[in-house]
Amino acid sequence: DKRADQLHVYFLPMMAPGHMIPLVDMARQFSRHGVKVTIITTPLNATKFSKTIQKDRELGSDISIRTTEFPCKEAGLPEGCENLASTTSSEMSLKFIKALYLFQQPVEKFMEEDHPDCLIAGTLFPWAVDVAAKLGIPRLAFNGTGLLPMCAYHCLMEHKPHLKVESEMEEFIILGLPDTIKMSRQKLSEHLKDEKETPMTAIVKDFMRAETTSYGAIVNSFYELEPNYVQHFREVVGRKVWHVGPVSLCNKDNEDKSQRGQDSSFSEQKCLDWLNSKEPKSVIYICFGSMSIFSSDQLLEIATALEASDHQFIWVVRQNTTNHEEWMPEGFEEKLNGRGLIIKGWAPQVLILDHEATGGFVTHCGWNSLLEGVSAGVPMVTWPLSAEQFFNEKLLVEILKIGVPVGVQAWSQRTDSRVPINRENIQRAVTKLMVGQEAEEMRGRADALGNSAKMAVEKGGSSDNSLISLLEELRMGKSSSN
Ligand code: UDP
Repeated sequence: DKRADQLHVYFLPMMAPGHMIPLVDMARQFSRHGVKVTIITTPLNATKFSKTIQKDRELGSDISIRTTEFPCKEAGLPEGCENLASTTSSEMSLKFIKALYLFQQPVEKFMEEDHPDCLIAGTLFPWAVDVAAKLGIPRLAFNGTGLLPMCAYHCLMEHKPHLKVESEMEEFIILGLPDTIKMSRQKLSEHLKDEKETPMTAIVKDFMRAETTSYGAIVNSFYELEPNYVQHFREVVGRKVWHVGPVSLCNKDNEDKSQRGQDSSFSEQKCLDWLNSKEPKSVIYICFGSMSIFSSDQLLEIATALEASDHQFIWVVRQNTTNHEEWMPEGFEEKLNGRGLIIKGWAPQVLILDHEATGGFVTHCGWNSLLEGVSAGVPMVTWPLSAEQFFNEKLLVEILKIGVPVGVQAWSQRTDSRVPINRENIQRAVTKLMVGQEAEEMRGRADALGNSAKMAVEKGGSSDNSLISLLEELRMGKSSSN
């Protein structure tokens, strides 16, 4: 009976756009390989992709969503705060992350009813390891980044080079990595520096424990992007890993694109019409992910740099003030005269990057943005802010050589503690990205990498093979436990 050995895989994405988007894409990818898939999330988060999943079902995929309420009240969060992107302060984010522990019970109940064969859960659900162990099934950890940052974290913890420098600015080499990567303490997140105990440090330790005791890791990356780090992760870190991306390349038929973000006032068609009227490779796309908000000072610096440069652009602006336009130079939008498009809210990023008119991307180096830029063959200006983004910048600038740094010196999660990058630096980086011999060469490399990304997910490509080998391993595990 075919059904009896059909694999059933559970996906539990952490509720933030940068985790949900790739993990839902990945789930759809699994279902196209004949796997029965269940995605667990909360009702509000489910609305962001339920149309897409419904369409997949109509086309014959065995994929469904199970929902459980977000425990807002127990967590001390306002009603409807079901996504990390809806939190507005570090206290709220901490409450949110703690609330993720409360999902254990409902998820465990679902799993007892459904008896899946594997649980793929975000690293911020450390208890997923224990729940999977109870059912005797493997848990795969998904932490939302690529392998270079995962290997770098491992080396930092192992050798602690960041504790041997005298100042925040002093550079040190992350010993043990395949490439010579220099870092400084000021580019590391608070909890990585491990000097003082914060409320987050204990939680992060729990995440790390769960990650290392998981059956393996699954990443949205592809072999050709970071071959040495795939190998390092397997041989030196000593853990199993499957690279199955870029998953955005396999999921262009998304029905809920505009629903993925918090607000969706922008018309996708307007954006495409605008791009259609532009020359190939002439537009710069500027976006800092789903969570980052800039101060008015910083927005003014960007606006002034864009005004002064000759390039056409699409700029995604996320604000936190009620005084929306206070940062705009006088008459900014009129003076641009159609040269720039400002999107306030959620942009159809993958569509924009894939459009032939787009020739450069100014990015905060979030892993998904990095991969989407790579997949589209677009060189980037790197503007890391927090999380592991400074490591991703190294990959783009120093290893792949398709990035120009704007010159951010310090990690910072909060808008108000960030030193603005001035207009001259922005303009300099943008010019270097778009004009001249070096720009040409970068474009060539980006283009080649984009092609290898596309090949990776095709039949017989490195990511397709990796997914198939994972499914084989899961099937073997299933039949031996039957
Ligand atoms: N994204 C988008 N439109 C926006 C902002 C973000 O489609 O206006 C998508 C982007 O394509 C990516 C994800 O949101 O898939 C952001 O993930 P990333 O890892 O780049 O950054 P994060 O938001 O986690 O910092």
